[in-house]
Amino acid sequence: MPEGPCVVTFPASTLPDIYPGAVNLFYFNNLIHDYLYSIGFTEPLWNFQQDNFGNGGAGSDGISANLQDGSGTDNSNFSTSDDGSYPRMQMYIFTDGSFRRSDGSLDFAVVAHEHYHGVSTRSVGKGASGCLGLGLVGEPSGQGEGWSDYNAISLTDNDAVGEYVTGDFARAIRRLPYTNYRWSYGSVNGTSLNRRDGGSPDIVAVVFRSRHTTRVSFGRRLCGTCANC
Ligand SMILES: [Zn+2]
Repeated sequence: MPEGPCVVTFPASTLPDIYPGAVNLFYFNNLIHDYLYSIGFTEPLWNFQQDNFGNGGAGSDGISANLQDGSGTDNSNFSTSDDGSYPRMQMYIFTDGSFRRSDGSLDFAVVAHEHYHGVSTRSVGKGASGCLGLGLVGEPSGQGEGWSDYNAISLTDNDAVGEYVTGDFARAIRRLPYTNYRWSYGSVNGTSLNRRDGGSPDIVAVVFRSRHTTRVSFGRRLCGTCANC
């Protein structure tokens, strides 16, 4: 194919930015796939690929990623399937009152967070899904959220997840940035904000996050029972 200027023509759409978002979401997921592959999330360890090239595991399970999914706003999720079945990532539009809308597909950390839900779920279940509990319910699910955040912040070398979609460049979707996180374990259920350094509890912190309460949960949906953990 001769070299030349690359002309990409997108058809007119009633959905603003749908095509750039689609390209971005495709690129981000492939980038994350290749990175995770390089550190061991390979075919025999239940990764997500359409074709496993004879390297073990089950194929036909590339990630089906939806952008600007109409089923929700201000969140995203990842429905993990068993190895050999297609998982689904759903990215939503984030809203912020009446003045700002942003696409989760354009926020690398959000995509990385959701992608890793599939990794942790399949890794715990040895290829099966449904072993980490429902989103934001129970300690295993909390671990899953933490692992997904870690994947996102390690890949971006940044201590917050979702800065673009929230417009908050300090703590983004969480209550505090991860660096020097100062609350004790009691903050997990929101009932106490005691400081790990023994200082006075953070009373104000209860209030400052209220505007973003719908954003603190990058949930995921799982179904089925834990039969193979
Ligand atoms: Zn999550």
